[in-house]
Amino acid sequence: METEALSKEELERFEQLITERYNTLLEEHRYREQSSILENQRESGAELSSYANHPAEAASDYANLTMNLNLAERDTKYLKQLEDALNRIKRGSFGICRICKEPIPIVRLEAVPTATKCVNCKNEEKKREQDEAKRA
Ligand SMILES: [Zn+2]
Repeated sequence: METEALSKEELERFEQLITERYNTLLEEHRYREQSSILENQRESGAELSSYANHPAEAASDYANLTMNLNLAERDTKYLKQLEDALNRIKRGSFGICRICKEPIPIVRLEAVPTATKCVNCKNEEKKREQDEAKRA
């Protein structure tokens, strides 16, 4: 089954889509960062003395904090992937599987614009990883 390479118009459409996604995510990321900074400032303020008497409360705050950090880390990773996708559009390698160098079907790119591998190669890789995991 032959898959055709993306046309210029399709590439432009993806560029727009990825840029939009990138900006939205960045905005959310900044907003979350801002609100967690505000929260920290509030918590380290007047109520600080009563905090030491409530270890359970302090512990749950710590859990919240690490959860936010994990979220931020995931965001950062995805932002990087979107950035990479935009770079690939500029370089002309967007939508081409980096393993077999065949064009990735457009339906897959629409679902996963950050995809760098076609489904076949991705599955192959997954299979290899599972085999390796079994051997280990
Ligand atoms: Zn491939």
